[in-house]
Amino acid sequence: MFSKHVGKELSAYCQGELSAEESRRIAEHLIGCHRCRSEFEEIKLGVKFAEHLPLIAAPDALWDDLQVLIEKQGSHAKPANEMRPTRKSGNWRLGFAVVAATLVLTFGVVAFWLYRRESLPSWEVARLDGTPRIGSAGIKEKSRLAVGQWLETDEVSRAKINVGSIGHVEVDPNTRVRLLETKITEHRLELVRGRLSARIWAPPRLFFVDTPSAVAADLGCAYTLEVDDAGASLLHVTSGWVALQLKDRESMVPAGAACATRPGVGPGTPYFEDSSETFRKALAKLDFEPQNTEWSKIPSLDLVLAESRPRDTLTLWHLLSRVQSTDRGRVYDRMAELAPPPAGVTREGILNLDETMMMLWKENLENIWSSDSKLRKTWIGFWTRSLGKVKGLEGKK
Ligand SMILES: [Zn+2]
Repeated sequence: MFSKHVGKELSAYCQGELSAEESRRIAEHLIGCHRCRSEFEEIKLGVKFAEHLPLIAAPDALWDDLQVLIEKQGSHAKPANEMRPTRKSGNWRLGFAVVAATLVLTFGVVAFWLYRRESLPSWEVARLDGTPRIGSAGIKEKSRLAVGQWLETDEVSRAKINVGSIGHVEVDPNTRVRLLETKITEHRLELVRGRLSARIWAPPRLFFVDTPSAVAADLGCAYTLEVDDAGASLLHVTSGWVALQLKDRESMVPAGAACATRPGVGPGTPYFEDSSETFRKALAKLDFEPQNTEWSKIPSLDLVLAESRPRDTLTLWHLLSRVQSTDRGRVYDRMAELAPPPAGVTREGILNLDETMMMLWKENLENIWSSDSKLRKTWIGFWTRSLGKVKGLEGKK
């Protein structure tokens, strides 16, 4: 059965305070639960904010007060006869305040310095072939990649990055990749050219790869991602799920599926790699060259719909919100033919892109899309639960 929402445990989870077993349970829940996932994003943001707190400047007023205290302290250092006897205790208090303030400041600076040193972010890199380089230095056997540094391979070199304790990334020849960030709430690489294979067992949405045309967000998975010289990329997922995003355009790509991205467009529509060649070709035209009618006498969308198998509802589900509203009905009808929508999902609702119905149908379809039985169970549980909710709502009407 689908477990309860995990909102209360998210903070501890985010800070790595849970056991491996508990973390796994929550990670699995997060993959399937939209609600907890958005809560998780908020908590991550909070933790991120907290991490930056030491960098916030003290208010000017505090410095002014300190300045006054220090000046007073200086003036009290004048000959004793200039001091009134009644100010003696005040003098002592002022002195104490300055010493205390200095101690607090010193302690703060040292603690911050230790914190920075402790978390000086870098990943271990091992040479696999040839001589990969970090900056201008060649890697003999092992080295470290710090935040901001570039790792580069030539046509014969390969390297492996250990991404903290959350997974590893293999970097293929002719690749240029940079470590942008590594902290408890986010690990981020930038891939500007070449190819990498990532295997990540971190909680979903902790590991990101920026490419020139989209961001790959990991949802507990293994995948390869390549970027060509024009900044276009291609993602192949071998296990779990990956989300490709650019602004508010998002493609959810499960194991066995692929998705292309283009600069200026963002992620295209995901598709299963075992779909027909005509299907894939027509989809690429639909995504990236919608004006090109030269290549086929039959419109791309017609070809995609005609060539779809039940599993290709992955593609059709994404197309629902991407095609012109005049074409949406045709996409719906084909989907309903291949995999009838669950109770609570209506044609009218889908044509209006009703968010609840879209999610409900998607959770239902993930069943067909996923080849992983454990994930499938999660999807079924989620679907059953959501279905109960929608039925409950209907009952109230
Ligand atoms: Zn939940």
